[in-house]
Amino acid sequence: MRYWLLTVCFLCGAFPGTGLAAGETRSAGRHEHGSTALGIAVEGQSLVIELDGPAANFLGFERKPANDQEKQELARVLNVLRDGATLFLMPEGAHCRLQSAAVSPPDYGADGHANLEAFWEFRCGSPPALTWIEAKVFTAFPGTVRLPASVVTAAGQKAVVLTPGTTRVLLPQ
Ligand SMILES: [Zn+2]
Repeated sequence: MRYWLLTVCFLCGAFPGTGLAAGETRSAGRHEHGSTALGIAVEGQSLVIELDGPAANFLGFERKPANDQEKQELARVLNVLRDGATLFLMPEGAHCRLQSAAVSPPDYGADGHANLEAFWEFRCGSPPALTWIEAKVFTAFPGTVRLPASVVTAAGQKAVVLTPGTTRVLLPQ
């Protein structure tokens, strides 16, 4: 994951709790089942989104797959995560296109817990129109019930908590 940590280093100071700077999945942030940290940063035409949460929030289990069915489920979840253009919606007028996605498989710890991290970079042709982002994460992963979100744009930063009833975050303008 090192290569993209470099590309998003402008996030490092902004999200001290999300583990971006640490490069480790479990030591940096809190591990709370149901809760997945969401990071959003806009700089120029670049929109960067990150999710970091317990693997159980995505998979329903938090250990190495024990059979073929669980292996298939893990592969399915990783594929859903790679498709950032489906997980996150933006205003059409912002003309955002997914440029890259990076998903790190669960890092199984000795304590029986594991985090899953995913990262996407979008390029937006009309950044002024990028006024909100909607997370479809709750629909895709019903095990996630809270998304504490940190948002950074050139206009400011904010922290909000998205829930299945409030899935859209307004960006500082
Ligand atoms: Zn856990």
